[in-house]
Amino acid sequence: MWDLSHICKSWDEWQGSYRELDAEIESFKSRQGTLAGGPETLLDAFRAMDRMGVLSYRVWYYASLRYDEDQRNNEVNARRQQVQILFAREHQASSWFNPELLAIPLDTIRQWMERHTPLALYRFAIEALFHEQEHVLDEQGERLLSYANRSSSVSHDSYAALTTADMKPPTIALGGGNQVALSYGQYRAILETNRNQADRATAYRAFHQVYADNRNTYAALYNGVLQRDWFHARARGYESTLDAALHGNNIPTSVVETLIKVTKEGVAPLRRYHQLRRRVLGVDSYRLFDVSIPLVEHDARYTYDEVMPWIVDSVAGLGDEYQQQVRDAFSGGWIDVFENTGKRSGAYSAPVYGTHPYMLLNFNETLDAVFTLAHEMGHSMHTLLAHRAQPFVYAGYTIFVAEVPSTLNEALFLDFMLERADTANQRAVLLQHAIDSIASTFYTQVMFADFELQAHRLVEQDQPITAEVLSGIYSGLLREYYGNVMDDEPLSSMTWARIPHFFSTPYYVYQYATCFASTARLMQDLRSSDLTTKSGGVDRYLSLLRAGGSGYPMALLKTAGVDLSQPDTVRAVASELDMLVSQLEAALK
Ligand SMILES: [Zn+2]
Repeated sequence: MWDLSHICKSWDEWQGSYRELDAEIESFKSRQGTLAGGPETLLDAFRAMDRMGVLSYRVWYYASLRYDEDQRNNEVNARRQQVQILFAREHQASSWFNPELLAIPLDTIRQWMERHTPLALYRFAIEALFHEQEHVLDEQGERLLSYANRSSSVSHDSYAALTTADMKPPTIALGGGNQVALSYGQYRAILETNRNQADRATAYRAFHQVYADNRNTYAALYNGVLQRDWFHARARGYESTLDAALHGNNIPTSVVETLIKVTKEGVAPLRRYHQLRRRVLGVDSYRLFDVSIPLVEHDARYTYDEVMPWIVDSVAGLGDEYQQQVRDAFSGGWIDVFENTGKRSGAYSAPVYGTHPYMLLNFNETLDAVFTLAHEMGHSMHTLLAHRAQPFVYAGYTIFVAEVPSTLNEALFLDFMLERADTANQRAVLLQHAIDSIASTFYTQVMFADFELQAHRLVEQDQPITAEVLSGIYSGLLREYYGNVMDDEPLSSMTWARIPHFFSTPYYVYQYATCFASTARLMQDLRSSDLTTKSGGVDRYLSLLRAGGSGYPMALLKTAGVDLSQPDTVRAVASELDMLVSQLEAALK
């Protein structure tokens, strides 16, 4: 189990920090109206915000990690909610800060930063806020938009209600005469483990039929999302919904357009993989419900004690210091490893500022669990290096870079495991794991991004949105990606209706793909046999981790040698997939 005494020794100490934060929040209010006074008062306010931030991490994570140990504990849950209430007050008490800062001319603040160097620490934070401000309206405009905000989540809320609360899972009959109520979990389990193709087909069709039966409702809800996005983009003076979505992180729209175009040009290895699957599975027809079943039976188990040194060994290429930090994570009480009654499910890495990252796992000795451990360790090392190198204000990082270290750690671990695999069967299992993760984290996400972009563009061009139109886009994409290696399955065109991201967070999924491409590009250097290329790659990668959130993500990645505006960066994924598929073909011969 993890040792949370590194955050707070006891609930008493936690109570003390809570009161301290409470007092900071109270006193922050009195700073209102002082910012324009000069560099000193502005700096003081920034430092007070940092103090609140540091305390917030401690107060929140102690309660929240304790809660995740056993979510049945009502007392802890109450304390956790107490923090949430305090955060709401913190939000209110500091809501004046940004508008007041933005009322000072940027040139004035720039002069202050020249004169008063400690304030210059906050330069990027200040410039980024002013950048965001470019599309903020006058007071009247903002008030009007805030009224519209209340209705902006209705489409998504309706979608959520329709797909969860009001969803009646169909009951299906499987080959053995088994009756199954088809929850999402059951559906995934059948697709991933049931070797009877007819059962998989039954499950797939029943699951998608529920969406098909309500296709017009889903299309109307998605139209609501699209219209809202276009309304906000136009109201704020953006040229397109994509511009509006990327402006905050300062990412040019060409990045997404290049990603989509180059990925489509690189589908050849993806198709080769599916041709191989069709052959190995020995099926006459091959459809989307056949893509998740393992090619090779494997029931290997990995004990936690056994894999710890492997994870350490796998990162040897990143240097002694990095490797030592991974050892520290294992021995220092950072990880809550095994399943327990009441414990939160899944896995995560929690960035506890001022202490060290903590990891929650539900380690069940499968290969997936081992890769999850490598993944979360990547997040944790990112947190550790960033927190050590950056002042509080830049310690956090955005999702646009977050999945780089996690997927890179997985890639390193795969290389390590492949090297020590001694049977063709073991190699095949590992290779399939890696290929499936490229297919699902990269190709599928880019295809989703493509769908979102096409749908939004129709609305921007005043074109109608119907179920037929949306399914038309989706089946067009399936053809472009899979060509004729996948047999036609009419219900596959309904997939758009069951992707929650489309309804909850438009233009989000492409970031999984850009992270994946960045990792593939970085791995080219890390795998290089040329020692200078390799050590340069390691240095640039570690500086990326240390950089935290101290700049815009594209700029940070560029200093690490990853230029996402270049097609070659995206092509690195197709080359990697090509290499892996060739290895898998060899392993299965
Ligand atoms: Zn992750």
